[in-house]
Amino acid sequence: MKILKLKLHWQILIALFLAVLFGYYFPQGIRYTAWMGQIFLTALKMVIVPLIMSSIISGVTSMGSGKNLGRLGGKTLLYYISTSTFAIFTGLILVNLIRPGVGIEMGFTQSVEGLNEKAGSVNDILMRIVPSNIFESMVNGDILPIIFFAIIFGVFIGQVGDKYRVSLTTFFEAVFEVMMKMTMFIVKFTPLGVFGIVSREVSRNAANLAEIAGGMAIYMLTVVLALGIHAFFTLPMILRFVAKVQPFKHMNNMVTPLLTAFSTASSSATLPLTMEAVEHKSGVSNKITSFTLPLGATVNMDGTALYECVAAMFIAQVYGIELSFLQQMLIVITALLASIGAAGIPMAGLVMLTVILTASGLPLEGIGLILAVDLPLDMMRTTINVWSDSCGAVTVARSEKEETNIAYTKAQF
Ligand code: ASP
Repeated sequence: MKILKLKLHWQILIALFLAVLFGYYFPQGIRYTAWMGQIFLTALKMVIVPLIMSSIISGVTSMGSGKNLGRLGGKTLLYYISTSTFAIFTGLILVNLIRPGVGIEMGFTQSVEGLNEKAGSVNDILMRIVPSNIFESMVNGDILPIIFFAIIFGVFIGQVGDKYRVSLTTFFEAVFEVMMKMTMFIVKFTPLGVFGIVSREVSRNAANLAEIAGGMAIYMLTVVLALGIHAFFTLPMILRFVAKVQPFKHMNNMVTPLLTAFSTASSSATLPLTMEAVEHKSGVSNKITSFTLPLGATVNMDGTALYECVAAMFIAQVYGIELSFLQQMLIVITALLASIGAAGIPMAGLVMLTVILTASGLPLEGIGLILAVDLPLDMMRTTINVWSDSCGAVTVARSEKEETNIAYTKAQF
């Protein structure tokens, strides 16, 4: 029982380590453990829609006048767009320097079923934002239209008479409180969930782990290096000099959501944990977390944006297609849009890659090349997505003169 006294993130780390060993050495054993991961994920999914709805609505109503909302929204979007752009350029520079696709033997392409149906266009991304039926979006868990509806709903709550405004505001605040309490309860089971998910994935991929790593090592290394620069240099610099907080103290506070993002490969599933940590550990006000984080979980995906760019460039290199500067800029812009449009679920980035390949005229079958190594890269890019969301909440909070728990004291700065 002593293990229960350990801090949660240590429990998760231990679970992660044991899961890798277990999945690798006892692949038959996962029959008895996989359910833990499934229940954990289902429980997270269970809270997401009501959590997002209530948090955005109460976040928007608590911001008060339209001017206030516009200012916060503007800052938030500015942060999202600039960090994603930094991320994409980091990837673009590295992929041009390392050139991982040059000299790769073609021929081990797998075909992806239904790729052509999935291939979307830039237009599709915009069309997905406005729901034709909000309940359908809720049932399907389509987060983008839910966010859109919740923001508008919140804005108009502010415009009705006091009697209704007060009761609706109180109602959504109350729902939000309850959803956060439920989340905190689920968070306690993270180590078990992580164990279930990771042991299953390891056992599934155990046979071809070495092959996967060998063939595509340089490509993976390029993505990982670029993600590392973004996570350990670019974002901490923003925290240090723009937000004026202690970057690694904040990172330390985020260990639980970051490890969960890594294990689940889903920003949306991690959202409840991210909200809990940013608010209760790093001390960002509820007003800011409840607006920025649900938005960030779908809109702000630095890791995905970076990945899309590197993957598209890699495919071009493998097929021996030279891309001009302008064509590369087109990839940058579509990578940004694709990352905004990608849902916070596993492999969403891979599906969105079809948008970029179509837009820039690259062969769609190229996806077959990178399919095999998508899982580990998905886990890593999701971690960076969540890390950037949390940094965004802190940066916006600091720009609104919030103290937080991670600000420098005068003597430290
Ligand atoms: N899995 C990622 C996320 O949830 C999206 C992606 O596939 O890039 O953040």
